[in-house]
Amino acid sequence: AAKEEQRGICRPFETSMDEAAQQKSQLEKDFRIAVRAGDLEVHYQPLVNLATGEVECYESLLRWNHPERGLVPPETFVQLAEDMGLIDHLGRFVLDQACKEAVNWPEHVKVAVNVSPLQFRNGNLISTVINALSASGLAAGRLELEITEAVMMEKGPRPGAIIRNLRAFGIGISLDDFGTGYSSLSYLLDYPFTKIKIDKAFILNLHQEAKSRAVIRSIIGLGRNLGLTVAAEGIESEIQRAYLREEGCVQGQGYLFGKPEPAATLRHAVSRVA
Ligand code: C2E
Ligand code: MG
Ligand code: MG
Ligand code: MG
Repeated sequence: AAKEEQRGICRPFETSMDEAAQQKSQLEKDFRIAVRAGDLEVHYQPLVNLATGEVECYESLLRWNHPERGLVPPETFVQLAEDMGLIDHLGRFVLDQACKEAVNWPEHVKVAVNVSPLQFRNGNLISTVINALSASGLAAGRLELEITEAVMMEKGPRPGAIIRNLRAFGIGISLDDFGTGYSSLSYLLDYPFTKIKIDKAFILNLHQEAKSRAVIRSIIGLGRNLGLTVAAEGIESEIQRAYLREEGCVQGQGYLFGKPEPAATLRHAVSRVA
């Protein structure tokens, strides 16, 4: 009886847990199918030189258009891929696609690819990257890998060794979402970054918040003094662009310049710029 009572009490909770779990497992099933069917698409968003307006790089951003749910945010399905053990597969897919695409662009235009911390665990990141480069014929100097500080939190000396190894090939290493993680400045000494990307959280309110401007100015100064390229993400307005440019931020990314787009539409844009 006690058991039944307990079950009775628990039921409403159980039901909603079941629903959430069911939804998640359905999404996992759909995701597995989408990966197999090649339903994931890589979109590309420009990073422009704030002084000249020229496109210098495109960031690869994964898109999954679910048949019923519509676009699923990459944060959601990247997490799914990590949970399901599919992240290496997904990572390889983006790298292969991005490198294959970038060979068609003007030589001065680079391509950036986001890399999940988990891809540093299984020991095949370097070979995946090198394979993508050699299969496509893309020069290593045209590839940038974007990592977040979560990578440096991976235990052991391996992330550092892998990053230095990739850098030794001539691949660029960007520190993404700078300012929102641990922002431990010692990372800037210990790892051979070539770029820092100021997180869009600071850009969003810069016109209203003196504090955001102070942080932005300081990051730009820090990056410049270390000889790194400083980029800002999430630029949506002229005011933001003008401010960042004046402060010496080299690159900008945001809806003001272009949203992420499929490669097919992009090609026109690139050839127009070229
Ligand atoms: P991220 O690497 O920091 O990418 C920048 C995000 O800012 C993208 O969101 C981009 O669409 C968005 N963004 C760019 N300009 C603007 C703007 O002007 N305003 C606003 N509000 N947003 C802007 P997205 O595409 O939804 O991707 C979110 C995150 O998902 C990425 O953040 C990255 O961490 C992750 N992600 C996306 N593609 C991949 C991938 O291929 N591999 C891995 N591991 N992660 C990925
Ligand atoms: Mg990124
Ligand atoms: Mg970012
Ligand atoms: Mg981000």
